[in-house]
Amino acid sequence: MTKTTKYIFVTGGVTSSLGKGIIAASLAKLLQAQGYRVTIQKLDPYINVDPGTLNPYEHGECYVTEDGAETDLDLGHYERFLNVPTSQANNVTTGRIYQSVIDKERRGEFLGKTVQVVPHITDEIKRRVQLLGNSGEYDIVITEIGGTVGDIESLPYIEAVRQLKWDLGENNAIVIHLTLVPYLAAAGELKTKPTQHSVKTLMESGVQADVLVCRTEYDLPYDLRRKLALFCNVREEAVIQSIDASTIYDVPNLMLEQGLDKVVLKKLALKSSVPDITQWNNFLTRHKNPKTEVTIGLIGKYVELQDSYKSILESFIHAGAENEVKVNIEPIHSEYLNEDNIKLKLSHLDGILVAPGFGERGIEGKITAVNYVRENNVPFFGICLGMQMAVIEFARNVLKLTDADSTEMNAKTKNPVIDLMEDQKLITDKGGTMRLGAWDCDLKIGSLVRDIYKSEHIKERHRHRYEFNGKYKEAIEAKGMIATGLNPNTGLVEIIEIPTHPFFIGVQYHPEYKSTVANPHPLFVAFVKAALKFKNGKKSASVSQN
Ligand code: GLN
Repeated sequence: MTKTTKYIFVTGGVTSSLGKGIIAASLAKLLQAQGYRVTIQKLDPYINVDPGTLNPYEHGECYVTEDGAETDLDLGHYERFLNVPTSQANNVTTGRIYQSVIDKERRGEFLGKTVQVVPHITDEIKRRVQLLGNSGEYDIVITEIGGTVGDIESLPYIEAVRQLKWDLGENNAIVIHLTLVPYLAAAGELKTKPTQHSVKTLMESGVQADVLVCRTEYDLPYDLRRKLALFCNVREEAVIQSIDASTIYDVPNLMLEQGLDKVVLKKLALKSSVPDITQWNNFLTRHKNPKTEVTIGLIGKYVELQDSYKSILESFIHAGAENEVKVNIEPIHSEYLNEDNIKLKLSHLDGILVAPGFGERGIEGKITAVNYVRENNVPFFGICLGMQMAVIEFARNVLKLTDADSTEMNAKTKNPVIDLMEDQKLITDKGGTMRLGAWDCDLKIGSLVRDIYKSEHIKERHRHRYEFNGKYKEAIEAKGMIATGLNPNTGLVEIIEIPTHPFFIGVQYHPEYKSTVANPHPLFVAFVKAALKFKNGKKSASVSQN
């Protein structure tokens, strides 16, 4: 639509966790809804090459793109808001930047020059930012800079932004700075000083913020906005408040009310119009006006942290809205589940999701949970490790292979029903070496999944090393657990079902990465529907007993 790609940089000040990713995604949504082709990129200042090797406790969920990048969870928000896939180019870390520069140095491509942070590291950052813009696919690239200005590790990024603003010229690149305006209860006042300091820190690096987005618990009064505008060199209309919202999905509307899209488009010398967010608002109406509710147990080992299963939780919000049902998620720590307490912990639930994961901790609890839901006809949805646990449970309790296991947990088991994939056996490096990204899968005629997807062929995203061991397929199917999704090229089992159970589906891939507001994932939608049916069935059974 536009001749040159325009760039928007989103920086953060005062504190982390201000919701830069959500502001970036909300702005992108408003621009997209005015006909602009927008993408969002995240630059992360840590040394890990990607977040794939990071513990979920440290950094939340690792998100996976269609092309197999292991990325920051903010990319999940970008996709959920925009309904446009991201790629390897959308997440860059300091580790990756340095790796490219050092590789280039080893190849002798710097021709004897001393390799330095400025210009070599900053050039590589600039190249990575412009890679998306130069693809010709986007009118606007929004680049979110992780971390907080003033951090040592953020410096090269802020310097790259300074240079890019200069190189690209006025109206082609702007900076939105996100800060916190705290409320001091003792003084009964909102305080602007931290924002002033943070804008100054940015200016010390030569970067002038064009727009301020101020995270606040209370409405920013006019005089306060004026004060911020005056002290921070921005126009009054460019001081935008980001008030705490009950759901992240309200933020695009909140930004629209504040005119963030208009201010930004004006600064970029682009035309603005009224964004068409009808579909988005229809979703919000359904999300906020549920007709009934269900409670799903989420069994995992990182349940105390919201961010560890981010995409799963968001998928339930999309699926709940689609069904006009409020989905309550009850996190259940698998480590504390055993045969003695399983009924107590699970019997009130309308469905159980066994989460993805790695390693041995909490495994037996997951298997016990699968046993309970299988025998009690409770809707079951197993994702990745959750699917593997379902296979182990079935092998142990139905096929009576009591030592059945995954070689991830027990390398010496005589019955490795879940085993390392052949092409994984020689791999020793951990980073970026799993089976990653989207792979083809054929769905079996007459299966529940084929009915749910309304398709015979799907493509879903993976992140694992282990798989259903094909040697056991015949024996397992003979007892009633059926492989209903197969990779057409390798024959790998991607989906299992138990057709005699009302809803028992395990998937080796991660459907949660593909659920968006515009396209709620069909498996989550069907699972919520099954949970509602199960709940209503319980109710009518208890009525007829009375
Ligand atoms: N640990 C299992 C594997 O690597 C499952 C991974 C997952 O749940 N993402 O195969």
